[in-house]
Amino acid sequence: MRDKHTRKVAIQWMIPTAILLIAIVAMFVDFFKTSSKSAQVQVERNFSSVSEGYASKFQEQLMSMQTSGRTVAAVIQQHSEKELGLVEEFVEALYDKTDAYMVIMTDLNGRGINQEKEWVSLYDIDYFEQLQDGNERYIHLENDGFSGKHAFLSVLPIGKKETKALLLLYYPTDEFSDLIKRGEFDGNAFYAVTDTTGKIIEGNMATETVFEGDNLWDGVADEKEVRRIQNRIANGNGGVTNVTDSTMSFRLAYSPIGINDWYVVVGVSQEYAKRLERQVWNDTKVMVYKLLIAIFVFLGVVIVLNIVGKIRSHEENRDLADKADTDLLTDLNNKLATERKIKEYMKEHPDEQALMFVLDIDNFKKINDTMGHAFGDEVIRTLGHQIRGEFRVSDIIGRIGGDEFMIFLKNIKDDALVEQEANRVAKFFSNFRAGEYVKYSATASIGAAVYPRDAKDFESLYKAADKALYKAKERGKNQLAFYGDDK
Ligand code: GH3
Ligand code: MG
Repeated sequence: MRDKHTRKVAIQWMIPTAILLIAIVAMFVDFFKTSSKSAQVQVERNFSSVSEGYASKFQEQLMSMQTSGRTVAAVIQQHSEKELGLVEEFVEALYDKTDAYMVIMTDLNGRGINQEKEWVSLYDIDYFEQLQDGNERYIHLENDGFSGKHAFLSVLPIGKKETKALLLLYYPTDEFSDLIKRGEFDGNAFYAVTDTTGKIIEGNMATETVFEGDNLWDGVADEKEVRRIQNRIANGNGGVTNVTDSTMSFRLAYSPIGINDWYVVVGVSQEYAKRLERQVWNDTKVMVYKLLIAIFVFLGVVIVLNIVGKIRSHEENRDLADKADTDLLTDLNNKLATERKIKEYMKEHPDEQALMFVLDIDNFKKINDTMGHAFGDEVIRTLGHQIRGEFRVSDIIGRIGGDEFMIFLKNIKDDALVEQEANRVAKFFSNFRAGEYVKYSATASIGAAVYPRDAKDFESLYKAADKALYKAKERGKNQLAFYGDDK
């Protein structure tokens, strides 16, 4: 009974729980699918923003050098060119205050003075010719003409109406290399500065690593991707792409610097990029697993608590029902419960033979009168307990009136058994004694009726048994009579 109920409650929970679990699993499968993609996106975005960061830092350094140069150029312009000492001071100050590794002020014929206050000649230096138009500009030098260094050169004109002199500030390319080396990606990144066509102007990519040609986008196998890159660059945008040379594969992020048509390109090996993705992905996975475990534990607790609660309340209800069915004096079924249970049995077993006894204690009023009402109660209680012990647990036994009892024996297969059980009831009273100190032997008259032979429903069967009881009383009490036995 208890197990059956437990199973029922568990099944009630199983269906919604199964649906919920399927929904959760489906949700997580979907989540995993999109997350593995988003790990890729996240790494790509991170990569782009690092490259943008370098580009803007690079721009900032070049620009701040240029701004300082412009200010000095304007001040020098205010003074007579004859004040040579003053010019020397300014050149030296520019050297001290900016990232320039060399500062030169020169006339348009290439006669210049540097931060060391030394006279220098630029006349024979190959890039000087293009400076003679006197325009402000940035150019890239593979050789600065003095120390042989790579440099980004900021050119600033001096002169009111027309350019009379030039201020030259040389920015060292190693400065930018250091920026990348010290930066992100655990030293795994390399860099280049390119123009919009992808031609490498500067960078450790061309020298130390992989690219055989001098154009970065030559390594992009997919022509559509090349067009996409060119499109983005034409609009002044950056992006991320994959590049392969004969031995290795790389992921590159490119960002415009904002000076000339220069781009900063930061690269990592494809292997390293994949490792970053896996890392992000693993972090997500761990988080999701923890979340899943928390959900399952929560669900488990809720379900178990609910099932336990339901079982408990079911048991409580059953206890209450049992109490409502019980006769308080004897612990037997009360009249209503006896009737209900017998009716239930009849409904379920219309063809199975059963035996009903109705018994009434003889001269009970006299017991009450002579021994007292409390002793009368004691007789009823003792009788109830002893009758209960006499029959099977499955038989229905109840107290249906003051000194009246009903015994309903199920599944009485044949007439021999009818007789045997009748004898058992009759014999019971020959031995019956009640009372703890004073032993009192009470007798009873018993009416018996057989189901379904004598009657097919409860009321009729009760009436039949009662009629037999009346007969037993009439015949002198302390005996058993069967319905229809008129001898
Ligand atoms: P009969 O032999 O014909 O059965 O006569 P009787 O004296 O037993 O009287 P009857 O069965 O008609 O009445 C039963 C009496 O039992 C009536 C009432 O005073 C008494 N009685 C009913 N309920 C209780 C009870 O709970 N406790 C006690 N002590 N007496 C009860
Ligand atoms: Mg009586």
